[in-house]
Amino acid sequence: MTSKKELFAKRIIKWYGKEGRSFPWRKTSNAFHILISEMMLQKTDTQKVLLIYPSFIKKHRTVAQLAQANINALKKELHLLGINDRARRLKTTAKTILRLYDGKVPADRTRLLRLLGVGDYIANAVLCFAFNEDVPLLDTNVIRVIKRVFSVESNKKRARTDKELWRFAGSLVPQGKAVDYNRGVLDFASAVCKARSPKCSICPINLICDYYSLLGGKSS
Ligand code: SF4
Repeated sequence: MTSKKELFAKRIIKWYGKEGRSFPWRKTSNAFHILISEMMLQKTDTQKVLLIYPSFIKKHRTVAQLAQANINALKKELHLLGINDRARRLKTTAKTILRLYDGKVPADRTRLLRLLGVGDYIANAVLCFAFNEDVPLLDTNVIRVIKRVFSVESNKKRARTDKELWRFAGSLVPQGKAVDYNRGVLDFASAVCKARSPKCSICPINLICDYYSLLGGKSS
């Protein structure tokens, strides 16, 4: 019998196949470009990243090019995204990849975590989207979906650092389908299972969702 976790992943992937968003960083397997996109997307509106990413990648196509870029020019290029330190983080990260990893983004979690500005989320995003590893992503939006569907709770102040929650998120990732699954949950959280007014009545997983069931199947 298909478990609730399997059903959840299946329906998310099916929904993603029809409704998933298309972004330039989803059309490449270049690990460096994927890393740049994730560092840009951190605490930033996706629409702003869309305005900058294509020209930035064109200009700083390689690790060496970014490592050698003028820091003030980089700050100007990235100004729209906010977070003053972002230019320095990107440049330092490129320099570290050159120095420690021979100019190649490592397909290894411990090594990725040594890069400035790379935490659990970005490390897993690179491992999944660039190297096809079956690892989970956990941010505020993904946590919201998981909490609602499975009634899981975290007693940590910052739930995204909760190892138990990461483990649970990992148990949902279907083998060999992590890319579509992870992108699917991210898009689903943004389009359907929104923070305010989730679209429960048209949600493809409402029949297995604890939150919906608690509301008696009556949410908007
Ligand atoms: S039924 Fe509602 S709360 Fe549950 S996953 Fe769907 S949108 Fe989110």
